Amino acid sequence: MDIPTVSVDTHARRATGPIVLLGAPGAGKGTQAKLIAAHFGIPQVSTGDLLRDHVRRNTPLGQQAQAIMGRGELVPDQLVCGMVEGRLAEKDCEQGFTLDGFPRTVAQAQWLDGRLQAGLLRGKPAQKVPLLVIDIAIDYGLLVQRLTARRTCPHCGAIYNLHFNPPRKPGVCDGDGSNLITRKDDEEAVIVERLKTYERQTLPLTDYYRQGGALRRVDGAGTVEQIAQAIRDLLERRGDVSCRSSA
Ligand SMILES: [Zn+2]
Repeated sequence: MDIPTVSVDTHARRATGPIVLLGAPGAGKGTQAKLIAAHFGIPQVSTGDLLRDHVRRNTPLGQQAQAIMGRGELVPDQLVCGMVEGRLAEKDCEQGFTLDGFPRTVAQAQWLDGRLQAGLLRGKPAQKVPLLVIDIAIDYGLLVQRLTARRTCPHCGAIYNLHFNPPRKPGVCDGDGSNLITRKDDEEAVIVERLKTYERQTLPLTDYYRQGGALRRVDGAGTVEQIAQAIRDLLERRGDVSCRSSA
């Protein structure tokens, strides 16, 4: 049997259409978006990156966003949607793209559906492939276990994980021998609160996509490679389906 690989596979590279990735903090969403990008040759569109890029380039949208964030407020849907729309109109999104961190609300999801239907990707056949929403589903107990296993070096900032990336000597930084600490952010109570917030915000979104028939689940309990394979299987199967239905 072939050993699974995450390198770019030119035979698999083709139009995937629009993809939305959902998953709780720590489920590995960003990593999987990058692996999809490497495998299928389509860009990862992260709203966090977009926002930082607009601020850095000092665009009108970036200036508005910065002013709002400076007041400690959340960047409104309209502004985020404007950035996403501009990015999706770029040439490298013609064959498909993976949205990471968007949509966050049902209103944003409805906006995206409307834009896709209205031909946001007009003249770009791949964008007519129906939206696929992949939820990396993972047991919260397991997530808490993973996230509370993070240890940080207060001296050099190196991050370890007791399960995946332990220091050579327990409790001590490999680089400089400092005693490792658990950051406030990585304490169990803080993590549980973060997961509750995520669930509260995301449940309406997963319901919306489930009712629309776009939602697919992959098991997030496996290794990075197992999850990547499950996602590739979903996308390959969908490729067959969309070829048949368009024939
Ligand atoms: Zn260190």
